[in-house]
Amino acid sequence: MTKIIVVGAGPGGMFASYLLSKEGLDITLVEMGEDVAERIKHINNNGPSAGPNYIQGVGGSGTFSDGKINLNPEIGGNMLEFVSKNDAENLINYVDALFMKHGMDKKAEIHPKARELMRKAMRAGIKYIPIKQKHIGSDFLPKIVSGIKKELEDFGVKIMVKTKAKDILISNSKINGINIERNGKEEKLDADYIILAPGRAGSRWLLDLATKFKLTYYYSPLDIGIRVEVPNEVMEEITEINWDPKFHIRTKKYDDFIRTFCTNPSGFVITENYGKFVSVNGHSMKNKFSNNTNFAFLVRMHLTEPVENTTLYGESVCKLATTIGGGKAILQRLGDLKKGRRSTWERINNSYVEPTNKDVTPGDLSMALPARILEDLIEGLDMLAKIIPGVNEETTLLYGPEIKFKSIRLTVSKKMETKEITNLFTVGDGAGVSGGIVTAGITGLIAAREILMREGKKCEI
Ligand SMILES: Cc1cc2nc3c(=O)[nH]c(=O)nc-3n(C[C@H](O)[C@H](O)[C@H](O)COP(=O)(O)OP(=O)(O)OC[C@H]3O[C@@H](n4cnc5c(N)ncnc54)[C@H](O)[C@@H]3O)c2cc1C
Repeated sequence: MTKIIVVGAGPGGMFASYLLSKEGLDITLVEMGEDVAERIKHINNNGPSAGPNYIQGVGGSGTFSDGKINLNPEIGGNMLEFVSKNDAENLINYVDALFMKHGMDKKAEIHPKARELMRKAMRAGIKYIPIKQKHIGSDFLPKIVSGIKKELEDFGVKIMVKTKAKDILISNSKINGINIERNGKEEKLDADYIILAPGRAGSRWLLDLATKFKLTYYYSPLDIGIRVEVPNEVMEEITEINWDPKFHIRTKKYDDFIRTFCTNPSGFVITENYGKFVSVNGHSMKNKFSNNTNFAFLVRMHLTEPVENTTLYGESVCKLATTIGGGKAILQRLGDLKKGRRSTWERINNSYVEPTNKDVTPGDLSMALPARILEDLIEGLDMLAKIIPGVNEETTLLYGPEIKFKSIRLTVSKKMETKEITNLFTVGDGAGVSGGIVTAGITGLIAAREILMREGKKCEI
């Protein structure tokens, strides 16, 4: 029987396995993290500081995230690079239907006021992207993941947790097997096809494989900036239209691209510990609310000669910020930043916006972030205030740094197959072809569909 190994049980790997599982093929899903049930226990005990369990394990890196489901092929990567608009719709509907089968809300329509917001944004020199969007909530998403995992097992997918893929095996430029490590022992598994979906946690490993097997790749740009926190009242007219509104801005001074990302109405700002440095993020829940809305405000950095490695650059900035913050993220009021002074707890406590993350150091972001990024962010907030009055008030809270590392982008065909090795497919965020739950799932489906076609099997999509 045809053997397929899928590496990584995030949305990329789970959706690929799901589509393949219907046709009686021999599928093994290899995941280095723990089962979702174990992860839930760790998170309940430790919250976001639950170490690797927060981003690794069955369900993948977004399992404890806010679960914003963006039903648009151009949000979280661009699926139109690989498939037509109609096909993208088709694939999105498949992902949406599986989530709904496991309990996600049914309706998602573009809000009637979206057009008006688009017009207002355009007049302010900002692009607003109206999208169909759903919100699962970080307290409900793990339940959906558990349901999908059970369905995979019912269809006969073997799920090996706490199992790390170490190396791929090639014969005549074609996939032949994989080496895995389990309980401290190495083992070889035969494979006719391999789908690698290792996410950002596995992007370093993917880079090592690319180097070893001379796979072609390039560095993707980096998104770096801050998390902005304001009272709900400032944002609610906008978040009623879209839970996570997408605004794209070009700054006048540098012509840089900035975007809003991961908005959390009534949400919470969190600190993520990467070991060598910290970064911030945000989430919101279905059953627990704050008085504030937070969103990431990120500048896109491309690097050319002599350093193309955006990851190294981003890490250096984050390390500096973590040093200045004494090992914690920095919190500053926008008013203090504009006045060129650090924030203190006293100044922050004098404001009426209470931070949702207090495990931070009140400080000065201008000591940590490069001038160009900082100027972009201040200019961008002033522009945004034309459509969201109040977002650039003195009391607005800024947490930094926030960084979205993009992995290397492997050169793959439209079917997600590497150019150099036949039957080796790379999908999801780790391969640099997606940047969200839905798009990672779609790239997995594209690879799985191609395998089904080559095997002469039926395919649901
Ligand atoms: C805090 C947070 C919040 C987010 N919020 C949202 C959101 O609201 N909406 C949204 O659309 N997206 C969100 N995202 C992004 C989303 O989670 C990712 O885009 C998506 O999970 C990527 O899917 P993936 O399958 O490519 O990789 P991942 O989900 O990262 O899964 C990869 C899996 O592979 C495993 N792995 C890696 N290397 C190996 C190896 N060598 N052997 C075995 N296993 C391996 C990892 O342990 C991991 O479980 C969020 C991400 C984070 C971290």
